[in-house]
Amino acid sequence: MSMEWTTMSGPVGLGLPLRPPRPVEGCDVCAALAKQRAAARERGDLSAVSDCNVEIGAHGKGH
Ligand SMILES: [Zn+2]
Repeated sequence: MSMEWTTMSGPVGLGLPLRPPRPVEGCDVCAALAKQRAAARERGDLSAVSDCNVEIGAHGKGH
């Protein structure tokens, strides 16, 4: 499952293969990750955004 973040020339925003997981309401961990993800997206750090998505997705199993 490698992602193609290696080139910076493509259009930004088309790289996410899946819809981002939704943070669960009332969960502090989800809220923190969602906040982190929003900050990363704002500064254009797509690899950090994708990291947060993975973390939210993985963590979501614990609810
Ligand atoms: Zn959670």
